[in-house]
Amino acid sequence: MKMYIGGKWIDGTSPSKIEKLSPINGKRLYSFKGASKDDVDKAIRGAYEAFPKWSSMTEVERSKYIYKALDLIAKSRKELERIIYNENGKLTKEAKEEVDGVIDQMQYYAEFARKLNGSIIEGTTRTRKIFQYLQPYGVVVAITPWNFPAAMVARKLAPALLTGNTVVLKPSSDTPGSAEFIVKKFEEAGLPKGVLSLVAGKGSEIGDYIVSHKDVALITMTGSTATGQRIMEKASSNMAKLILELGGKAPFMVWKDADIEKALKTLMWAKYWNTGQSCIAAERLYVHEEIYDSFVKKFVSMSKALKVGVPSGSGMGPLINSSALESMEKIVDESVGNGGIVACGGSKPKLADSGAKGYYFKPTVIEGLDQKSGLFQEEVFGPVIGAIKVSGKEELFKYANDSKYGLASYLFTKDFALAQEASERVRFGELYINMPGPEASQGYHTGFRMTGQAGEGSTYGILEYLKRKNIYTDYSEE
Ligand code: NAP
Repeated sequence: MKMYIGGKWIDGTSPSKIEKLSPINGKRLYSFKGASKDDVDKAIRGAYEAFPKWSSMTEVERSKYIYKALDLIAKSRKELERIIYNENGKLTKEAKEEVDGVIDQMQYYAEFARKLNGSIIEGTTRTRKIFQYLQPYGVVVAITPWNFPAAMVARKLAPALLTGNTVVLKPSSDTPGSAEFIVKKFEEAGLPKGVLSLVAGKGSEIGDYIVSHKDVALITMTGSTATGQRIMEKASSNMAKLILELGGKAPFMVWKDADIEKALKTLMWAKYWNTGQSCIAAERLYVHEEIYDSFVKKFVSMSKALKVGVPSGSGMGPLINSSALESMEKIVDESVGNGGIVACGGSKPKLADSGAKGYYFKPTVIEGLDQKSGLFQEEVFGPVIGAIKVSGKEELFKYANDSKYGLASYLFTKDFALAQEASERVRFGELYINMPGPEASQGYHTGFRMTGQAGEGSTYGILEYLKRKNIYTDYSEE
């Protein structure tokens, strides 16, 4: 694993090494010297120097690099799927879906090449006009998480580059290989030197430095709320613009008239997709009292039947690392300490051979807790969910909105009025009614409360990368 700085692949110069262990079997996958502050400096300088030329090109010219890179990715997509599989431990099918997402997002953003327009606003007299120009910010720092190690990279690089910004990418230390693959494809596509750099280093080592660097104009980051808050604090020194996509705690609401089979199928996906490690994962289950017992019983039996193990041959793979595994054990212990009843799972599965040393945890459903408990308040980010019985819509909406996070939410009902009311009252950036996620490229992925700031996807997402400059003119002769 090397750094890509100023158009050259070099070894990182951090004194410490990053060791990557396989989530699938606990064995060492690779180790490398991460980026140092000095490497970060060089990358930002390169991006700063490349900005004037890159930003003076047209969107159509810049889009050609994105189309070319996406074509190269599509041609060698199996390799990217394998990297994602190995470093993240996703199911083969999920790794494939992620690469579909990479291609879809790059395509979606590249298509904006002829669609980004400034505007003309009438002034206070007939001869006065205000021309609003859309202009890139400058150097963008893109910080990505490990749970969608390729899709999150594509979702940041494509809009940032198309709009004329230059980018320094800092991927998660847990999954830098997916980022390296994508950057190589941009290099092969002929992207000019300095326009895109890769610095793979520990957030704890280079994070504060990169986000408070004086030459950084915009920071786009996906990750935890705690890291987002820290970035916000550090970036204030420089007033960098922030796009922060942070934690989630999605409520999954099942009303008495729901299509039960569809709700169950969707819940299985929403809870166990990517081993529960998704920002839109169902984290809290609220079921109407009239159907609670039968619904939860069926969900528990489906959860028990879900095969956990080496991702190429199972229904749910491992967690990302040993600390994620420990945090599942802690959540279950705390929940049981608070009076929770483990309806299924709650421990590591007994796996033979290659899976024995991986970071696996059983699908887990916990009942008997109340809304104030940690399981209903803190982000789990794994295959554990709590279930609560609700008696009426006021209680349903109150519980659903009772969260510091506000990204995704789900509702299953055939009652049109309830669905409409939920659309008004549920305070989340996304509400999926009678359907699963994930979010579409043309939707605006954004959250309320501690889920962050700004958003990604849709026209609104691409406009986040552009500043509006106002040119006041007057053609009168007076
Ligand atoms: P994380 O620990 O916050 O890390 C995210 C990124 O921030 C990593 O690249 C990390 O680097 C870096 N980082 C850590 N400390 C930093 C600092 N002081 N300054 C700058 N960067 C720093 O999150 P994660 O564990 O990778 O991802 C899981 C979280 O992401 C969950 O909370 C999930 O809900 C959220 N997420 C949100 C969305 C969304 O769209 N809202 C999507 C996906 C995931 P290192 O890896 O080197 O520590």
